[in-house]
Amino acid sequence: MSSRIAQKLILVGAPGAGKGTVAKGLVDRFGLTHLSTGDMLRTAATAGTEVGLAAKVFMDQGQLVPDAVMVKLIAERVQEPDCRSPDGSPRFLLDGFPRTLVQADALQSEGLAPDLVVFLDVPGEAIVRRLSGRRTCPVCGNSHHVEFAPPTVEGCCDRCGSALIHRTDDHEATIRHRLATFEAQTSPLISRYGAVTERVDANQSPQAVLKAAVAVLRAYGVPLLDEKGPLGQA
Ligand code: AMP
Repeated sequence: MSSRIAQKLILVGAPGAGKGTVAKGLVDRFGLTHLSTGDMLRTAATAGTEVGLAAKVFMDQGQLVPDAVMVKLIAERVQEPDCRSPDGSPRFLLDGFPRTLVQADALQSEGLAPDLVVFLDVPGEAIVRRLSGRRTCPVCGNSHHVEFAPPTVEGCCDRCGSALIHRTDDHEATIRHRLATFEAQTSPLISRYGAVTERVDANQSPQAVLKAAVAVLRAYGVPLLDEKGPLGQA
């Protein structure tokens, strides 16, 4: 473990490992800028941009969007001021990027290699159960689960009342394909980043997973929001 404070953080985990939920909890506690490539692509697809519509074809089939598209998306995004700490050094929480060794190489060549990788580890079968039961609200983004978090009124979002959908990429065959893609393309990153990777058992309650992830960031010196000085610097 480095004695420096980790600022370039990456969450790695199979689809459905809970990256989004953990990221939100970490952002609330540590004030990091959360860069979720999945969210960025979905927003672009809903907005009907050229990149978004092209990406949607891959996403709906459970395939990765081509590296060149992803690298450009992130390279532009990390230039924005909210991805810098007050001294100008890069500071962010990447969620869903890099997903291939090519993407990791691109990050490295931008001088943005991570100083902490949190690997959310969940067995494949638990993921199939989690994701195939997920129902998402297309209007407010809320999600339910038919087994673990059913809506009060069947098929309707508890938050805004809209009809819930079963995302195309949450159908079982697509999930299995996404898991195979994770094993083949993304899991090699865990060895690549071995020296700065911390494994978190993500096959437990969301609260327990978040608690473990918070402990990892603390061990890497990441300051909690309420520990920061007036400039937002610990
Ligand atoms: P996520 O919400 O992170 O599970 O991402 C949803 C989908 O977006 C993935 O299944 C991919 O099709 C696409 N995607 C997100 N991030 C990447 C990435 N870094 N490389 C390639 N495709 C990505």
